[in-house]
Amino acid sequence: MNIIVFVMDQLSALALDLYGGPFHAPAISSLAGNGVLVEDAYCNYPLCQPSRASLWTGQYPHRNRVWSNGRKWPITPIDSSFPALGEAFASAGWECRHFGKKHDGGALRGFICSAEEKRKIGNDNDAFPYNMDTYADAYTVDETLSFIKKRRDERPLLMVVDLINPHNICGWIGVNKGPHEDVPFDGELPQLPVNFHFDDIASRPLPVQYICCSHVRQGQVSAWTEENYRHYLAAYNYYLQRADSDMKRVLDEAASAGLIDDETLIVFTSDHGDNLTSRGAVTKQVSLYEEVTRVPLIFSGPAVKARGSAEGLASLLDLFPTLLGVAGLEPDERLDGMDISGILDGSAMPEHGYVASEWFTEWGYTISPGRMIRIGHYKYMHYLEGDGEELYDLEKDPREMKNLAKDPSYSAVIEEMRTALERHIDRSADPYHSLEVKVDKRWRSHPVGYHRHEGPTAPEV
Ligand code: ZN
Repeated sequence: MNIIVFVMDQLSALALDLYGGPFHAPAISSLAGNGVLVEDAYCNYPLCQPSRASLWTGQYPHRNRVWSNGRKWPITPIDSSFPALGEAFASAGWECRHFGKKHDGGALRGFICSAEEKRKIGNDNDAFPYNMDTYADAYTVDETLSFIKKRRDERPLLMVVDLINPHNICGWIGVNKGPHEDVPFDGELPQLPVNFHFDDIASRPLPVQYICCSHVRQGQVSAWTEENYRHYLAAYNYYLQRADSDMKRVLDEAASAGLIDDETLIVFTSDHGDNLTSRGAVTKQVSLYEEVTRVPLIFSGPAVKARGSAEGLASLLDLFPTLLGVAGLEPDERLDGMDISGILDGSAMPEHGYVASEWFTEWGYTISPGRMIRIGHYKYMHYLEGDGEELYDLEKDPREMKNLAKDPSYSAVIEEMRTALERHIDRSADPYHSLEVKVDKRWRSHPVGYHRHEGPTAPEV
C-alpha cells in the first residue's frame, strides 16, 4: 500500500467551490470526486510552523510547545520524546519521503526530506508576479517527479508533497502595499465576500481589533480600495491554480509510474487558511475565524470506497491516528486526535465532542494568547488580553458577522462554552491561563478599524 499526502500552504476551505467558496481547482475537485471530503475540518493553530508541528506529531501546539514561526519567540525543536508520524511509519518498514516546505520544528523526524531549494521560473503575467514561494514549488515538483521516475524500492511508500502556494499571496501584498493602481489582468474580478464590510469590530477582543498594528501585511493594506481587495482575491486564485496544476503533475506521474495501485490512499489538506478579505483582513494573524481555521481535508484514491462528504467535526490532529489506522499500524495513545478512517468506507464521522484551535504569537513581537472551541454549531473564542470573548452561531451566522458573547439571550450557551473550554484546558494540560500577554500601547494609537491604521506595525518597530 502507498500513501501520498499533499499539503498546500494557506488554502482556506472557504476559498474552494467544494466548500461553498468562489474558486474552482480542478485537481482538488477531482480528488474530492473520487473520495470523501470532510466538511468541517479545522487546523489547530492558524500559522505555518505551529500547525505543521502539530499535524506531524498529532499533538496540540501547547503540548509540543511549537508556538510561533520563530524570531523573537524561537522554538525548541521537538525531541524524540514526542510522537512523529514519519518515525511511526519508518519503524514499521515503510519508506517515508518528504518533498517541499518543512517548517516543522523538528516534527518530520523519520522522513527522508528533500532539500528546500528554489528554481526560478518565468512568468509573463505582470499582475501576479512570482516570489520564492512559487520558485520553491517549482523545485519541489521537479524533485518529486524525478524521485517517482527513479524509484525501485519495493517497500510501501508514505510520500508527502508540501507545496507552498497559494502562500505567494503574502509576497503579492508586499508588491501592492499602500495606495496603488492595480495591474490589469485577463479575467473577471472576483466579488468580495458578504462579511467584507465589518461593522462589528468594536465588539471583538482587543488583539483582533488591532491586528493592523501587530501584522505587517494587515498594516500594508489599510489604504486599499474595494477594487484593490478584489485584485487580492484574483491573485489568491491565481496562486491556488498554480498549486493545483503542480499537484496534478505529481498525480499524473505517480499514476503512470504505477505508484497508484488499488490500495493507494491520497490525502489532501492545508496547514491553515486565509482571511480572503473577510472583515477587510488579509492572510492570517491572531484571529481564529472560519476563513483561517477551516481547511480542506479530502481522502481519495483507490483505498477509499465511499464517495461524497463526511459531516461532523474533525481536525488536523486526526490525520496521524487515521493514517496509522489505514495502514494497520498500532495506535499511539499519546496522540490528541481520533482515527477517522471509518469514513473511507462510508461510516459516519466518529463523535469528537468538540474541536479546538489556538493562537499565541507569529514572531514574538506581540503575544496574544487565544483559544477557540467549537461544539455543534456554536463556536467560542477567548483571548487572555482583556478577557475578550466571542460567540457565534454558525448555523445562523456562518461568516461570524455578529459577536453574541454579550447577548443576554445566549448567556446559557456562553456559560456552557466557557465550561467546555476550561475542561479542554484542564484535560490537555494547557498552560493557557499562565501565558503572558505582550502588547506595546504605542502600536494602537489610532481609532479602531483596520482601514484607520497608521504608522509602523509591531515587527517594523
Ligand atoms: Zn493599527
